[in-house]
Amino acid sequence: MTTKQKIAILGAGESGVGTAVLALKQGFEVFVSDRGRIKEKYKNKLGEIGVEWEEEIHSEERILSADVVMKSPGIPDTAPLVVKLKEKNIPVISEIEFAGKYTDATIIGITGSNGKTTTTKWTYHILKNAGLNVGMAGNVGDSFALQVAETNVDYYVLELSSFQLDGIESFRPHISAIVNITPDHLDRYNYNLEEYVASKFRITKNQTEEDFFIYDSDDELIKSWLKDHPVKAKELPFSVSQKLENGAYLEDNNIKITTQNTQFIMPKSSLALEGQHNTKNAMAASTIAQLLRIRKETIRASMESFQGVEHRLEKVLKINNVLYINDSKATNINATYYALDSMDTETVWIVGGVDKGNNYAELLPLVNEKVKAIICLGVDNSKIFEAFGNCVELMSETQSMAEAVQMAYKIADKGNAVLLSPACASFDLFENYEDRGRQFKDAVRNL
Ligand code: ADP
Repeated sequence: MTTKQKIAILGAGESGVGTAVLALKQGFEVFVSDRGRIKEKYKNKLGEIGVEWEEEIHSEERILSADVVMKSPGIPDTAPLVVKLKEKNIPVISEIEFAGKYTDATIIGITGSNGKTTTTKWTYHILKNAGLNVGMAGNVGDSFALQVAETNVDYYVLELSSFQLDGIESFRPHISAIVNITPDHLDRYNYNLEEYVASKFRITKNQTEEDFFIYDSDDELIKSWLKDHPVKAKELPFSVSQKLENGAYLEDNNIKITTQNTQFIMPKSSLALEGQHNTKNAMAASTIAQLLRIRKETIRASMESFQGVEHRLEKVLKINNVLYINDSKATNINATYYALDSMDTETVWIVGGVDKGNNYAELLPLVNEKVKAIICLGVDNSKIFEAFGNCVELMSETQSMAEAVQMAYKIADKGNAVLLSPACASFDLFENYEDRGRQFKDAVRNL
């Protein structure tokens, strides 16, 4: 009799529970351990499939006797238990690595600091419209592992964070994309930008000459990394500032994409989403589609019909000819930079929350040009007052979303816009960015 391989799963969230389902199906002996409280729905799922679990404790001895350990992306490598596992040479992998072993589907992996969700959903939208049998996972929707266990598709479009990429060994996407890299989550990378960039580039590490790598060639961090660390996959860059022979670029307001000797052209004005950043996301998504030989008419139609993603420059309502825009997902300076950049009218800007080491100076030129008033919505707004106090006359603060929206309503004139783009995390006043965005939309609808 062969003994079962033992897998210990650390963290019983979406990826942990998905891994439990898949591991059980693959014949592993499964144990799930969460140092915090496990959500009711996950407890129920684990109970349903008959997997042993524990919460508010890690039974170290049991975990250290596993053959392999899956660690949820939220647990840092420096956690004492993870350090012990590594000392014992027990493989510690991510859900992405584990699930990748059990599917033959063609994998498209998308990472970046901003724009992952938008590009992933846009790509999925095109592939679906083309009639392909495709799943979408990673940071969006059901976990990759759960889908591998329960469905059978030909393609997966995966949104991958750097934490998920840290835990891969053999995972190999046929098409990978890095849509941009700007400093984020540096607390998890010893405040070392190189380590964060290296983590993003892990997406290419197992790719071969038969695979493809799509990236923003206007991005300095990506470009300089590539100079010293060539990738094996065929490179397909995209750019909004320079002509390219291979890949995607802008010319006379048309997007032109060349892949493997086929060319695709469409006017930038027909893209469903506005803003330079979304032109880039669209370039990445349509390059992927073209590589998969999807018909040009389908790509074009899907570029036009995409609905966008909630909380990302989402148009909420027009009241008295003032447009209210919810960009609650902008939790860093770069995302807010593109939000302000895409405003074509005078703007009342609602900003603030938990500062992640923001350098607000990067926003000064845009704020000078477009912002007529700033409403700070955070517990500590001192850095924002310091950065913009000299250039914006109207500055106020509050800790209530309803009040912030009321203030904006009073200040905004016909033709103006009110933009919630916080450039900060949300957990000083809200549960998460979704809660913040929903409260904004409710407050606007109550005006
Ligand atoms: P992610 O999944 O990487 O967080 P999202 O698509 O959810 O990315 O977008 C997060 C925020 O970044 C939103 O405010 C959005 O408007 C902005 N954004 C989207 N695409 C880009 C991009 N290519 N570059 C910079 N910011 C972007």
